[in-house]
Amino acid sequence: MIIIKSLKYNFKCFFMVLLCFVLLFSLIGCDFSQNSTQDNETTQDMSKQKGVLKVNYIDVGQADSILIQSPNGYNMLIDAGETKDNAVIGYLNNCGIKKLNVIVATHPHEDHISEMASVIDKFDVGEFYMPKKEHTTKTFERMIDSLSKKNVTVKEAKAGSSINFDNNVKCEIVAPCGNNYKDLNNWSAVVKISYGNNKFIFMGDAEEVSEKEIINSGVDINADVLKVGHHGSHSSSSSVFLDKVAPKYAVISAAKQNDYGHPHKETIQALNDRGIKIFGTYDYGNIVAVSDGQNIEFNTGNKIEENTLDDKSKSDSNSKDSQEFIGNKNSKKFHLPDCSSLPSEKNRVLFNSKEEALKQGYLPCGSCNP
Ligand SMILES: [Zn+2]
Ligand SMILES: [Zn+2]
Repeated sequence: MIIIKSLKYNFKCFFMVLLCFVLLFSLIGCDFSQNSTQDNETTQDMSKQKGVLKVNYIDVGQADSILIQSPNGYNMLIDAGETKDNAVIGYLNNCGIKKLNVIVATHPHEDHISEMASVIDKFDVGEFYMPKKEHTTKTFERMIDSLSKKNVTVKEAKAGSSINFDNNVKCEIVAPCGNNYKDLNNWSAVVKISYGNNKFIFMGDAEEVSEKEIINSGVDINADVLKVGHHGSHSSSSSVFLDKVAPKYAVISAAKQNDYGHPHKETIQALNDRGIKIFGTYDYGNIVAVSDGQNIEFNTGNKIEENTLDDKSKSDSNSKDSQEFIGNKNSKKFHLPDCSSLPSEKNRVLFNSKEEALKQGYLPCGSCNP
């Protein structure tokens, strides 16, 4: 009996102590949960500041448009070319963009500014950069009208100037270096963006002439990702330039079937020779590069296996679109590969397109009519 009584007493004591502990821990627990909430908030703020830089290479067909979203929530648009109705505006809306803090119109060609007027009309615009080169097209005039209607500050894009974008993101303009070019493409504003250790270059349609000037200017153009100039045309991406930039990745903006044969075989070869991984909008759709300042990850609209790509490029080189033409160095005529009057091997020069042969001053052969 005595044992049972003392046990009962002990149980009472035990429950009292237990109750005290429960109360104590629940109080401490509250404090802990409050602390952890604060920590979460701090972490969220930190992640906002030290967030990611997102570079969206929008699939706009045979055109260029790139949206850059900074770690602090600022937005930059480089070009607004499109081949489908409102492709750029559609993409920006999908991303929930309200304001474009910076717009760069690399040069006034249609495939880079066709949707620009509508973009300016529909979104809040901070600063607008373009090279000091006017164009006589309706599209260019509409763009200028929209800019003045909205009272947007227009700044000249030229080598040596920088763009105010985000405190954590350095943004330099490295071309155009000069002010007199035969080809409008070489007026292209070339932009270099650095976030932490990651660097991106956006070439617009800048060709070899501009590439040389950039190299001669002595600016550091080493980058992880190169937006290849002029849709992968062989008029851009010279060997010396590719070696200077030495990118790990190359992004090419071009339509699957286009009249120019872009990207040209020589460009793909030059990139492959250097072990540069190629992302083409013609294969991958929208391409998004995400940088945390140390590493870059690529997310794409269409995931394509490497093998499929290889097969595709092989079959492409056999297809009619990328048909080769054989020029005669002596007669300056060019022929279809099955023409009966082909020059001897040593007098041959190969062209990837009729346009290329004509550009180099060769005339079509009268019998095979290439
Ligand atoms: Zn272009
Ligand atoms: Zn162009």
